[in-house]
Amino acid sequence: MFIEQPPWIYRVLFPGTIWRLPSKEKCVYLTFDDGPIPEVTPWVLDLLDRYNIKATFFCVGDNVRKYPETYQEVLDRGHRVGNHTFNHIQGIKFWTKNYLANIEKAAELIQTDLFRPPHGHMRRPQILRLRHRYKIIMWDVVTRDYSPHMTPNGVFNVVKRYTRNGSILVFHDSLKAEKNMREALPLSIEWLLKEGYRFEVFK
Ligand SMILES: [Zn+2]
Repeated sequence: MFIEQPPWIYRVLFPGTIWRLPSKEKCVYLTFDDGPIPEVTPWVLDLLDRYNIKATFFCVGDNVRKYPETYQEVLDRGHRVGNHTFNHIQGIKFWTKNYLANIEKAAELIQTDLFRPPHGHMRRPQILRLRHRYKIIMWDVVTRDYSPHMTPNGVFNVVKRYTRNGSILVFHDSLKAEKNMREALPLSIEWLLKEGYRFEVFK
């Protein structure tokens, strides 16, 4: 419960960050972290195309450097991209100056006004600096698809249990998550559509 849904104290400590976009309409924001990689991301793109869904990909700069064609594919298929640092580093482990420099390095490859901190960890001064330039997109439903202790059905159950209007859902186009994600994502999309949810990207 604590992991799937961020505790309220986080929201207070992280001023100006976005955890959910409350809405009267049934809509959700599908997001994918840690790609792009050729082993997983194209599979996600094909699946999304099949349903005509647009999503947001928070990309690791070093992956964009290694796999520019996969990154270009994300853009060409009309999805939104966000900065997820160059080396997938945690803000609390770095001085603000170095953390911001790593994000800046990623920004040379990823043109975007969206940012998501790896592991959701940042120091307050980092947030205060970043929020001038970026919309800092957090989440309210972490599927935990990356966890070896999760099953695809467990991931699907998290989606069913916690999704509300305007929810921001996190999946991962990563090697660690693909075992769960490849099963749970299609189940989740089918369920969300059946429940009447539309898929939005961040304005
Ligand atoms: Zn990440």
